Amino acid sequence: GEMVKLVERRENVYEIERTGEMHVPARVYGSASLIEEMLEEGDLTLTQVRNVATLPGIQKFALVLPDGHQGYGFPIGGVAAVDLDEGVISPGGIGFDINCGVRLLRTGLSYGDIAGQEAILADRLYQTIPTGLGKGGYLRTDISDVRGILESGMEWMLEKGHATEDDLDHCEENGCLPGNPNAVPTEALKRGVNQVGSLGSGNHFLEVQRVGEVYDPETAAAFGIESDDIVVMIHSGSRGLGHQTCSHFIREFERAYPDLVESLPDRQLVYAPLGDPLADKYWGAMNGAANFAWANRQAMTQAVREVFGALFDATAVELVYDVCHNIAKEERHTVRGREKSLLVHRKGATRAFPAGRPEIPDAYRNVGQPVFLPGSMGTHSYVLAGGPQSLELSFGSTAHGAGRLKSRTQAKGEYTAGELQKALRARGIFVRARSGGTLTEEAPGAYKDIDEVVRVSDALGIGTKVARMSPLANIKG
Ligand code: 5GP
Ligand code: MN
Ligand code: MN
Repeated sequence: GEMVKLVERRENVYEIERTGEMHVPARVYGSASLIEEMLEEGDLTLTQVRNVATLPGIQKFALVLPDGHQGYGFPIGGVAAVDLDEGVISPGGIGFDINCGVRLLRTGLSYGDIAGQEAILADRLYQTIPTGLGKGGYLRTDISDVRGILESGMEWMLEKGHATEDDLDHCEENGCLPGNPNAVPTEALKRGVNQVGSLGSGNHFLEVQRVGEVYDPETAAAFGIESDDIVVMIHSGSRGLGHQTCSHFIREFERAYPDLVESLPDRQLVYAPLGDPLADKYWGAMNGAANFAWANRQAMTQAVREVFGALFDATAVELVYDVCHNIAKEERHTVRGREKSLLVHRKGATRAFPAGRPEIPDAYRNVGQPVFLPGSMGTHSYVLAGGPQSLELSFGSTAHGAGRLKSRTQAKGEYTAGELQKALRARGIFVRARSGGTLTEEAPGAYKDIDEVVRVSDALGIGTKVARMSPLANIKG
C-alpha cells in the first residue's frame, strides 16, 4: 500500500494528519535519524499509531516516542489517553509484560569501594537471583501469598517484612494499585507461585552501574546521586503471571466482541469499552499483575541488599524510584483547557511528570519525577527528570529505553556470544547470562542509540537529562 505520510511540524515533532476513522491526529516525536531507523523495516509503526488514533474516546493525539517501534497492535514506545466515559481499555496498549518497569537503587558506595570486585558482584548476584524462564524466585511464595500480592503489591511486601516504608514512598503509586485477584485467571495465578524475585528472560536485566556525567547537579542531589556513585538498575516485570493475564483477556475480549474485532483496522487493537463489566475485570486483573511486578522488583531489591551487605560493610541500599513502562492509569490531564480524568495507556513509555504534580514523592516534587532510560549492556543508561513540556506534549510521558533496532533473529545472526562477552569484558563490563542466545539477542548493536533518544527527550522538554551511567556488572535472563 501507500506509505503513511508524516508531516514535520517542528524540530523533533512529526504528525500524521487526521483522516478516515481517526478521531485525533497521530504524533511521532523523534529526530530525523531516529525516524529513519523507525522506517527502515517499513512503516508498520506509523500504521499502528494511526490505527490507535481510531480508538473510541482517544484524546489529543496518539503518540509514538523517540524509542518507538512496532509492537502488538500498538507501537512499543507509545501513549494513548482516553476519556473515562467514552473510552476503552486495550491490552495491546499496555503490553504482555504488565508493569514491566525499571527501578534504580543507590548503594551508598562509590566506584572506589567496589573497583576490582565487579566479577564477584556479577557472580553473587547471578547466584542469588533466579534468571531465565524457569521456576524459582528469591522469595518462597504459595498461592495465597500470590493472591495477597495481587491485591496489594508493595503493601503486602511491607506487611511481610520484605520492604520498608521508604521503599513504598519511592514507587509510582506507592507500589500498590487496586488489584482484583479474582479477576486474574487461575493458570496465571499459578504461574506466579515461587516467581516473586525472579528476573525473567532476554531483555530483562539487573545491572550494577557507575554514575558518570551529571548534567543537572541540583536534581541529581535531590535524587541522592552524584558522579562515581554505584547504583543498581533492575528491569523486570510481572513474569509469566502478567503474560498469561494479558493473553487471557485478549481471548476473552475477542470472544465477547466478535463484531468489534471484525470492524477494527487491526484485530490486535481489541478493547473493551470502559464501564463494561469485562473492562472492569481486565482493569482489576491488570492492576493485580502490576502489583505482582512491584513485588517482584522489590524481592530482587532484597536480594541486592543481601549480596551488597555480605560484600561491603558500608553499604546501604535505598530505592531512588521505581517506574512502570507497561501500564494504564487513571490520571488528571488538561485537554482543550479543561481538566479531566483520563485512562492513560503507556506501553514502552515512562510517566515523566514535571515538578509540582501531586503524584510525585515529597522529596522530588520540586524537581520532577525520576525517569530511568536503560540503554543496553554495553552503552550508557540515563536518569532523567519529568520535563516541563511533558503534560502538554505527551500526557506526562517520555521514552522507556533505546528501543529495539534489530529483531532478535537478526541480532542472533549478526553476533556471537563469545566475542560479545570478550568485547564487553575488555571494557570492564562483566556479564552473566543464562545462554549465549540471550547475549546475542541483546547485543548493544540490536538497540537504537540511547544518547540520541535522550537528546530528543531533553530537547522537547518531556524528560530532561540529569545523569548518565555506565555498566560494570550485568546479569540477564
Ligand atoms: P523493553 O524490553 O522493556 O521494551 O525495553 C527496555 C530497554 O532496556 C531497551 O529498549 C534497551 O534500550 C534497554 N536494555 C536492554 N537490555 C539492557 C541491558 O542489559 N542493560 C541496559 N542498561 N539496558 C538494556
Ligand atoms: Mn518486560
Ligand atoms: Mn520493559
